[in-house]
Amino acid sequence: MDEKYTRMDSDEVLRLITERKGQLGGEVCILGHHYQRDEVFQFADFTGDSLVLSRQAAGTGAKYIVFCGVRFMAESADILTSDDCAVILPEMSAGCEMADLAKAEDVSAALERVSSATGATVVPITYVNSSAAVKAVTGRAGGACCTSGNARSVFEWAFQPKDSGGAGGAKILAAPDQHLARNTALAMGYGLDDCVLYDPAAPNGGLTDGQIRGAAFILWKGYCYVHQVFTVEQIERVRKARPDIKVIVHPECPHEVVAAADFAGSTEQILRAVADSPAGAGWAVGTEVNMVRRLATDNPDKYVRLLSDEPAVCTSMSRTDPQHLLWVLDNLAEGRIVNRIIVPEDVASDARAALERMISIKTGR
Ligand code: SF4
Repeated sequence: MDEKYTRMDSDEVLRLITERKGQLGGEVCILGHHYQRDEVFQFADFTGDSLVLSRQAAGTGAKYIVFCGVRFMAESADILTSDDCAVILPEMSAGCEMADLAKAEDVSAALERVSSATGATVVPITYVNSSAAVKAVTGRAGGACCTSGNARSVFEWAFQPKDSGGAGGAKILAAPDQHLARNTALAMGYGLDDCVLYDPAAPNGGLTDGQIRGAAFILWKGYCYVHQVFTVEQIERVRKARPDIKVIVHPECPHEVVAAADFAGSTEQILRAVADSPAGAGWAVGTEVNMVRRLATDNPDKYVRLLSDEPAVCTSMSRTDPQHLLWVLDNLAEGRIVNRIIVPEDVASDARAALERMISIKTGR
């Protein structure tokens, strides 16, 4: 980005973004993830979670998609849109620390390790918060992606026999978030003993063949640092301060936190639960702070607070600032595309297979 943007007055930056958006009209579509900071979020044509936005991107018909999120989201948008649509990530360093914990070659090696240890059919299920390359490994191996909202339906599909439309798996290799996978397994009625943790940094994943044979779920040793901030003690504290408060947390939180909460749900499910609750309701929400702050603003008739006292910020998401947004729009207005995300077609086609398999699975709950 040109240095002049860092020296610009912040009100001027906001004014120019509005101006450029007007100039570019329907050619550009700005997507804003729920965890995005307000100064950027306010310019979004569509807001939502990562998959909702990627699917929306595919339906806009815009020439340029400016994805104010993190890299894996822009990759998914590129995979799901046509080749003549350019997907742009305003700040290239906006990655996702959880996605970075799973490398494609390590996931391939894990699949081989788990399959050879058991001889059983192992179905890889990959959270959409992962690189396109990991999604491609999943697609090639007959697995599917999942979101925090549909993980249970996708896990159930993995175990269903092939003749009834499932993947016929005996085991699931779930990457990269151990918490979402463990919480899903527990919600399906499995126990903690049915899950083992695969550590890609340890020899043989840190597991014996016997441990792998005895488990139904092999969980990748990955996590989201934002959702690890929340604890059972915080839940006890907010309930003590306001006994009628409802606690709702994201399933990327550790299982003890999910078990102690009143509800667990994806970002979209959290938004709906709060919006649909009666006036005067109280909520303590365990997810990213930007989303919780907006939830409080959008529901002035309810009491909405972050579950923790210290902020839970996705610093990767915050890397996208108005200056970067203006910079990409200025370039588009002058006919230049900067920071385009292109997933190579061989990777994109296998990753698309994993995404489409997920989309075709009926969400039962
Ligand atoms: S909140 Fe966690 S999982 Fe989501 S983008 Fe940030 S680091 Fe990645």
